[in-house]
Amino acid sequence: MVTGALLKSTKSSLCLLQCMKTLAAQSRSFTSQLNAQQLAIQELTRNYTNDHLKPNASKLDLQGLFPFEEIRQLTKLGLMGACADKEYGGLDLDYLSLTVAVEEISRGCASTGMVMSIHNFLYANLVNERGTPEQKAQFLANFTKGDIGCFALSEPEAGSDVANIKTTARQDGDYWILNGKKSWVTSAVEGAATVVFATFDPALRHKGLACFLVPLDAEGVFRGKKEPLIGVSAVLRAATACDLTLEDVRVPATCLLGHAGEGFRIAMEQLDQGRIGIAAHAVGIAQAALDTAISYAKERNAFGKTLTRLPSVKDRLTDMCILVETARLLTYRAATDVCTKNSSMAKYVAGRNAAAVADHCVQILGGRGLSTKFDAERHFRDARGTQIYGGVTDIQKRLVGHYLLKEHNAL
Ligand SMILES: Cc1cc2nc3c(=O)[nH]c(=O)nc-3n(C[C@H](O)[C@H](O)[C@H](O)COP(=O)(O)OP(=O)(O)OC[C@H]3O[C@@H](n4cnc5c(N)ncnc54)[C@H](O)[C@@H]3O)c2cc1C
Repeated sequence: MVTGALLKSTKSSLCLLQCMKTLAAQSRSFTSQLNAQQLAIQELTRNYTNDHLKPNASKLDLQGLFPFEEIRQLTKLGLMGACADKEYGGLDLDYLSLTVAVEEISRGCASTGMVMSIHNFLYANLVNERGTPEQKAQFLANFTKGDIGCFALSEPEAGSDVANIKTTARQDGDYWILNGKKSWVTSAVEGAATVVFATFDPALRHKGLACFLVPLDAEGVFRGKKEPLIGVSAVLRAATACDLTLEDVRVPATCLLGHAGEGFRIAMEQLDQGRIGIAAHAVGIAQAALDTAISYAKERNAFGKTLTRLPSVKDRLTDMCILVETARLLTYRAATDVCTKNSSMAKYVAGRNAAAVADHCVQILGGRGLSTKFDAERHFRDARGTQIYGGVTDIQKRLVGHYLLKEHNAL
């Protein structure tokens, strides 16, 4: 009788424990919002991150090594063409699946997550959705199988102010001749092709832009040295933001994506996707910082108890949790309902929250928060960049305000 009661109580304790574990997992994964396919991608990338990325991220970062092997593995998993059509080697996944994957990969290694995010959201999805069959054969089929794609929009005089692009495109029979300089092109050092935005009539400002697909080994394309950065993890520290100089680069008219004059619209619409990718990347970094802080606070003793028992640390951890989860909700919403307001809001919140969470993480680790032997300082550096690339935070806020007032006929 007693044994039976004990068994029953043990069973109910186990059941309760299981329930709590499930609830904890749900709060991390928003299980109820994800369908079976999205959950499968989440599990796949979560396992890959835990087993392979997390253990190597610090080494890649400290030594400034481009994550070649990691990108090769993601290619094998199909995730370097996640949303591309199966015909061109892609997995034909929806944006939320890709978002969840970028988040998980960035949680393990922000560098790898950045390469993956830009390649998919700003290159492969663009070619997949807007390219002609010939363009997809040349600029997509191999890009789901290992080649890396880039997005060259920014210039020395045109960052936030895209309409000020100075790179020129001159039509010459069946060819276009491109001249100019692009800055900060992520993965251009290792990449095989890039999207290039150029003006065919500067007087037309944004209406004079066109979008081209350019092989990075084309004659006249010169890759600059990788930009030395504050070290936003291995990808950015090690390799992949550099200038591109275009000197009389001759591309066939078949490399024009869409029509001449559509370049600005293409750039803005693609950035709506790109910002979801950067938001997911920021959520992953923030989650990593929260995980780092909790693991440390559970072990570290001060004043005779673990840090988790100190009210101020508990308070910080609570703030961090709220910041991560609100950013994740907005990011998932943006991935399922893609529009400028949603993706700008997601990027704005996710970037700011990631920086705040990483700052708390450094604080919780105290002196060790500043040591390169611990992950906190890496998360801190990684988080900062998410407020700049893909469109600065200040502009995201302006965009949200613009579309808010537009919805209310109040512009
Ligand atoms: C690591 C890294 C990777 C990058 N990768 C790429 C890439 O792959 N492809 C690419 O094309 N670009 C890339 N970029 C460039 C990035 O998108 C630009 O740096 C960014 O858009 C800001 O442009 P900017 O640096 O010229 O800053 P600016 O446009 O000069 O802005 C500087 C500051 O001025 C303020 N500001 C400017 N305009 C406004 C405004 N209208 N309203 C309010 N405030 C404003 C903001 O505070 C802003 O932070 C990358 C940058 C970095 C750092």
